Amino acid sequence: MSSQSIITQASAVTFDQRVDEIAKQVAKYHKDGKKIFASSSFQPQSVVLLDIISRVDKTIPIYFLDTNYHFPETIAFRDQLAEKLGLNIIDIKSDIPVDKQVDENGQPLHATQPDKCCHINKVAPLEDVLPQFDVWINGIRKGQSSVRAQMQKEEEGKHGILRYHPILDWDSKMVFQYINERKLPLHSLVAKGYFSVGCLPCTGKADPTKPLWSDDRSGRWQGQQKTECGLHTSL
Ligand code: SF4
Repeated sequence: MSSQSIITQASAVTFDQRVDEIAKQVAKYHKDGKKIFASSSFQPQSVVLLDIISRVDKTIPIYFLDTNYHFPETIAFRDQLAEKLGLNIIDIKSDIPVDKQVDENGQPLHATQPDKCCHINKVAPLEDVLPQFDVWINGIRKGQSSVRAQMQKEEEGKHGILRYHPILDWDSKMVFQYINERKLPLHSLVAKGYFSVGCLPCTGKADPTKPLWSDDRSGRWQGQQKTECGLHTSL
């Protein structure tokens, strides 16, 4: 599926103006002497924020949480975007090896204690990064979950970090319109029916009865109550 085929109508949004606003905010942080970093999961929708960062300030380090459980397609997408956009990507991962991430019965934590698995592989490694910086940019959007719907563009996070969510108000249609206008690559799993892509054991295909641009996170942690990994609820 091409990005063109999933865009159904043009938006009145002026993306250049939006990017200019973000550039001004980033410039203000720099002027105030704040140290900035971004994080990205390099899932399909991530390309928007990554492109914006590449237009605004390519020196901003972008931390990628290498959980060891990513789809090979996500790693390929990360490498493709790093080269195309000239990003400054830093991989981080847990100190605990995968073969030690098991419960008392030897079962992998992602299968029996996913909150613990997410804490080990996502929350803890990123929490270690926070004290080095003043501002954390990430690409969450209100339409992605009820938790994210309550968030503000700027919020105080853990360890005194200022969370900055520059595309918080963008909906999925705008995301794909931006991808189309900028001729950005699509994560290859979109063509296979995935929309929100996390770790392989915890990601299924999106609900085929909903349009792909409907903020559909139905593929994440299917069959569980879990909707968040903890990065946006505890940091
Ligand atoms: S998404 Fe799944 S595999 Fe990835 S860290 Fe969380 S529980 Fe573990």
